[in-house]
Amino acid sequence: MKRLNSPDFDRWAAQIRRTGGCRQPIHLRGRVRHLDQATGQTLHTYTTANEPDGLLRVPCKTRRASRCPACAEIYRADTYHLVRAGLVGGKGVPWSVSAHPATFVTLTAPSFGLVHTRHVKNGKVQPCHARRDAETCPHERVMSCTVRHSDEDKRLGEPLCPDCYDYTGSVLFNAVAPELWRRFTLALRRYLAKAAGLTVKALGDHLVVSFAKVAEYQRRGVVHFHAVVRLDGPDGPAGTPPSWATADLLADAVRHAAHAVTVSVPAAGDRSAVVFRWGAQLDVRPITLHGELTDQAVAGYIAKYATKAAECTGTLDRRIKPTDDLSALDLRDHPRRLIAECLRLGATEELGELRLTQWAHMLGFRGHFSTKSRRYSTTLGELRAVRADHMRGPDITTGRLPLFEEDTVLVVAHWEYAGQGLSLGEQVIAASLAPPPRTATTAAHGAARE
Ligand SMILES: [Zn+2]
Ligand SMILES: [Zn+2]
Ligand SMILES: [Zn+2]
Repeated sequence: MKRLNSPDFDRWAAQIRRTGGCRQPIHLRGRVRHLDQATGQTLHTYTTANEPDGLLRVPCKTRRASRCPACAEIYRADTYHLVRAGLVGGKGVPWSVSAHPATFVTLTAPSFGLVHTRHVKNGKVQPCHARRDAETCPHERVMSCTVRHSDEDKRLGEPLCPDCYDYTGSVLFNAVAPELWRRFTLALRRYLAKAAGLTVKALGDHLVVSFAKVAEYQRRGVVHFHAVVRLDGPDGPAGTPPSWATADLLADAVRHAAHAVTVSVPAAGDRSAVVFRWGAQLDVRPITLHGELTDQAVAGYIAKYATKAAECTGTLDRRIKPTDDLSALDLRDHPRRLIAECLRLGATEELGELRLTQWAHMLGFRGHFSTKSRRYSTTLGELRAVRADHMRGPDITTGRLPLFEEDTVLVVAHWEYAGQGLSLGEQVIAASLAPPPRTATTAAHGAARE
C-alpha cells in the first residue's frame, strides 16, 4: 500500500515495466555523466538519487526459467536467433553459410541401470519395461515394470532398483562430459584432416569446424549434448569450405569421433578405474532448409534446452553445502542419492579437480549449458547491444536521453549493486503492471522430433 500511495509510484512502475516482467530485478545505485570529449563540458547527467528509493531496477538476465521466466524467455529467443543465424545467415553472418555442410548431433550418456521410461509407439504409451522372464536383482526386486507411465509420473527416470543403480558412474559421467565433448571435437578435426591427407595443424588453412551446443538433463539426471556442427572455409562463416568437405564426410567424422573418444577416471579407494565413453544412442542428421530437420527446428530445440538446467530432474536450483542435511531437503530419493554421491566422491582427494562438492546440485556437471565456437555466429552480447540500442530509442525521442554522436561523447559511469528482488507486495503490483512474459513467437516454429 505504501508503494501504491507513494508520490513516485509512476516512476517506480515505469522502472518495473522496463524490466519486462523480471521476477528478481537487480537494484543499482549510481550515476552516469555524458561529457563532451573535446571541451570536457557535462552534457547530461543521470543519478539514481532522484529515483524511487534511490535505486534503479534492471532485469536479472538469468538464463534459468525456474528463476525468472521473463528473462529466461529473452535468453531463449536470443539463443534461437544465434543458432539460426549460424544456419541460414543474418545478424552479421553471411547468407552463404546456408550452403555449408551442417549436421545436428545428439551425444547421449551410457546406461547406469534400468530406469522407468515412457515410450510412445503409434500414439500409444507402451509398458515401461515389460519382461516375462525378468531377472530378480540381488535386492529381491524384479527387473520389470508394466506401468504405462504418464508424462507427469514422478517415477520417470528413477531406477527400477536404486540399490543396483550405478550412482557413482552417473555423477562421474556428468563430471567428465565436458572433457569428453572436448576430445570429441579434437577427434572430429583429426578425422577430417586425415580424410583430406592433411595434418591437423594444416587443416586450419582449409577449413574451420564451428559448433553450437547445449546440454540437456535427462530425467535420470545425466546430461547429454545436442549440437550443430558446421564446416566453414578457413576464414569462418564467410569462407566457402573446400569441395571435399561434404555433408557425408562430416557425418562420417562425427560418427567416428563419437565412438573413438574416452575419458578415464583412475581407481581410488574401493572404487575401480572407469573408462567413460558416449552412450550407444548416437543421432547424426543433416540440417537442411526444407527437409525433415530444418534450421528453425534445430534452433528452437537448442534454445529450449538453453533455459533449462538440472532442476528439471528434481534437484535443487542452488548450491548445496557438505554440511546441509540432505534428508531434510524436499527431494525425491533419486536426486538425493545423486547429490549424496557427489558429496561423497567430492570429499576424496583423487577426484578434487572434478569439484563434485561445488557442483552437487548440478549432479556433477559443471560445464556450460550452451556454448558455441568463436566463429559459429553472432554473440549473445551483440544481440543484447542491438536490443539496448532499440530500447534507448524511445528515451532519446522522449527527451529522457540526449542524442549525441557516440564517438564525441565520453560516458563516465559509476554503479554499485544494492540488492535484488521484489517484496511480496511489490510482486503483486509488478504482476499487474508488466506485460505477460513474451509469448514464444519462435516456439511456433516447433522443435525437432524427440
Ligand atoms: Zn529476471
Ligand atoms: Zn516403470
Ligand atoms: Zn537391486
